[in-house]
Amino acid sequence: MSASPSRAPVDLLRVPGLGRFLRWKHARTTLQVPFLLLAALVVFDGLTGPADAPRNAAGVLPWIHARGFVALALLVAGNLFCLACPFMLPRRLAKKLFPADRLWPAWLRGKWLAVALVVLFFWVYEAWDLWASPWLTAWLVVGYFLAAFVVDAFFRGAAFCKHVCPIGQFNFVNGLVSPAEVAVRDPGRVRVVRDEGLHHGALRAGRGVATATGRRRRAGGAGTARAERL
Ligand code: SF4
Repeated sequence: MSASPSRAPVDLLRVPGLGRFLRWKHARTTLQVPFLLLAALVVFDGLTGPADAPRNAAGVLPWIHARGFVALALLVAGNLFCLACPFMLPRRLAKKLFPADRLWPAWLRGKWLAVALVVLFFWVYEAWDLWASPWLTAWLVVGYFLAAFVVDAFFRGAAFCKHVCPIGQFNFVNGLVSPAEVAVRDPGRVRVVRDEGLHHGALRAGRGVATATGRRRRAGGAGTARAERL
């Protein structure tokens, strides 16, 4: 896995400060809430602010700053966006409020729907000049939160992440060329994570750290995660 065999993997859970943070029960929520607030700002400014995109948070934050963050994160450690993804919060809320006990329909399984949505997004982006319309951008963000909530209110597991989310699929694919990878140390725990509905791309994407940490907590402290430079 390592392009530089002489370089030892780093156990992130043993890095002072970072390891403690990753083991903390609320670590992901702490990362997600600031992005939720930024999303709220995008929606608010997009719906009520200036129509001129460069002067509106909905024209600048998602299409310029967020892209820069994702690109930098990919260069450092892979798809870190999923680690801090604010769409996880409505998903979690939906699971609390609704039974979410239906199986995802067999004909919708796999990645084809997410891939189709990525293609559709690119088309809409170009055809409707999304970057130039704070109003449309705001509604796109609202629609994304609603979709995450509705899908996970009805269906078991991480249906939205696994089968629907175009951002996740797009970042997972880009994460494959990242020079660094976050991976779990114990393959047995990877299997458990998959059973919980999270998908393999997340393990390359930084969520491996969080999920491995979660299992570690529940399992009484045996699991660890590591990062390897490729
Ligand atoms: S797959 Fe989508 S919804 Fe799930 S964590 Fe990643 S970006 Fe967020």
